[in-house]
Amino acid sequence: MSMTQKPMQKNDTAVVKITDIGVNGEGIGKVDGYTLFIKDAVIGDTVEAKVMKAKKNYGYARLMEVIEPSPDRVAPKCSFARKCGGCQIQEMSYERQLAFKAQKVQANLERVGGFSPQFLNRIMEPALGMDSPFGYRNKAQFPFGTDKEGNPVTGFYAGRTHDIIPNTDCALGVSVNREILEIILNFMKKNKIPSYDEKTGKGLIRHVLIRYGFATREIMVCLVVNGREIPDAGELISGLSKIPGMTSITLSPNMRRTNVIMGDSVDVLWGGGYITDYIGGIKYQISPLSFYQVNPVQTENLYSLVLEYADLKGHETVWDLYCGIGTISIFLAQRARKVYGVEIIPQAIDDARENAKINGIENVEFFVGRAEEVLPEWYQEHADAGEASAGNGARADVVVVDPPRKGCDETLLRTIVEMAPERVVYVSCDPATLARDLKYLCGQGYMLERVRAVDMFPETVHVETVVRLQRKDT
Ligand code: SAH
Repeated sequence: MSMTQKPMQKNDTAVVKITDIGVNGEGIGKVDGYTLFIKDAVIGDTVEAKVMKAKKNYGYARLMEVIEPSPDRVAPKCSFARKCGGCQIQEMSYERQLAFKAQKVQANLERVGGFSPQFLNRIMEPALGMDSPFGYRNKAQFPFGTDKEGNPVTGFYAGRTHDIIPNTDCALGVSVNREILEIILNFMKKNKIPSYDEKTGKGLIRHVLIRYGFATREIMVCLVVNGREIPDAGELISGLSKIPGMTSITLSPNMRRTNVIMGDSVDVLWGGGYITDYIGGIKYQISPLSFYQVNPVQTENLYSLVLEYADLKGHETVWDLYCGIGTISIFLAQRARKVYGVEIIPQAIDDARENAKINGIENVEFFVGRAEEVLPEWYQEHADAGEASAGNGARADVVVVDPPRKGCDETLLRTIVEMAPERVVYVSCDPATLARDLKYLCGQGYMLERVRAVDMFPETVHVETVVRLQRKDT
C-alpha cells in the first residue's frame, strides 16, 4: 500500500473474496492490500462487507451479503449460529472444518516450531473427526433471564455479551435438554419464581447444569440458585424425575455476584449426588462440580490415540502430567507397570484416586502440585538415591503431558529432557504453545514422529492435537 492510499473507513462497504480463516474462524480477505476480518464469512466466499472498525492496516467488517457462496459453505443447522457465542464455524462444511484444523496445527508447527513444510507434509495425519458433528456435548449450562414481557427465559449468551437469546434447543447438546428446560420454565411461570438478574443481584434461578451419560443414559440436573432453596420444589422434582434416565437432581446455592456459574456446595434434592458414565470401559462417577470431558465419543478416540502413540508393552513407568481427574493415567495404567499422575487442583486428584479405586486400578499414584515443581523434586530425590542407574525409581519410559493453553513451563521440559524417556506424548489444546514446546524438545534430543489433530469440538475453532516425540538415541 502506498503512503498516499487511504485505508478503508468505518461504514465503507466492499466486495471481498475470502482467502483465509482467522484464529476465531472469521473469514479474511483483502481489498487493495487492506485486510478485512469478516465474521461468518467462509473461505472461498465472495461477500459484501461493511467496515465496523478500521485500523491502519486492517479492519473488522460485518458480513452484509454472500454474493457468491464458497463450495465449502453449508446451511447452518441452528438458526442462531451467527448470534450465539458457542459455535463459530457452523456454516463451513465439516470436511473443511477438519482440513482447517489440521492446517492450523501445521501452520503453527512451521511458523513457531520451525519445522519444514516438506517434513510436516510427510508426518501429519489427517484430523480425526466425528461421524456426526452435532449433539456431541454431554454437558450444558443454560443461563436464565427475563424477557420484556416478564417471562422467564433460558438460552445462550449472544457472542461476548450477557444478553440471553432464548433457545432451548442447542444443536451441540443432547435432545433431552429441551424437555428439561421446558419443565423448569413452566414451573417458574406457574409458581412465579423469578430468574436471577445479574444487574440487581435479585431473583432466584441463575443457571441449570445438565449432564448426560452417553454410555449409561443417566441424566443429572443441577439448579444453581441465588438462595438456599426453591419454593414448591416438590412440584418441579415431580416433573423432572419422570424423565426416563433421571438419576440426580441437585441444587447449588450461589449467592455471590460473580460470573462463576456454580456455587461451592451441592444439596441433593432427588436421587443420588452423581451420575455414572464410561469412557473406553473405564467407569466414572460425575458430580455437578467435577470436571469431565464434554465430548465422550471423541475423548475415547483421543485417549486411544494417546495409548497408540505411547506404544506401551506393559513394563513401562509412565508420567501423566496435568492429569485432571486421572482419565489418561487410568487408561494408560491398563498397559503399563506404573503410572504417576500430577495435577494442580486437589479436588481433581481426589476424583482421580476415587476413579482408580472404583475401577480396581492399583498401579497408579497421584500427586497434587505444579507439574513443573513435582516432577523436578521427585527426579532430584530419586536420582540422588542412585535409582536412575538401577533402571527404576527416577526413570521414566513414557511421559504424557496435557497442559492448559499456556503450554508447559520450561522447567518441566528441562526435567523431562534430563529424565530422558524414550517417548513423549503431548496432548495440546493450543497449537502455538505446542509448537513452541516442540521446538524446545526437538532441540534437546527428541524427534517429532507423529502429529494428529483430534476434533473434540466440531463447529467451533478449538483444535486439540496429539503428538509423539521419540528420543533420538534409542
Ligand atoms: N488430562 C486431563 C485434563 C487436562 S486439562 C484429561 O484428559 O481429562 C489440563 C489440566 O492441567 C487441568 O486439570 C488443570 O487444572 C491442570 N493444571 C494447570 N496448570 C497446572 C500445573 N502447573 N501443574 C499441574 N497441573 C496443572
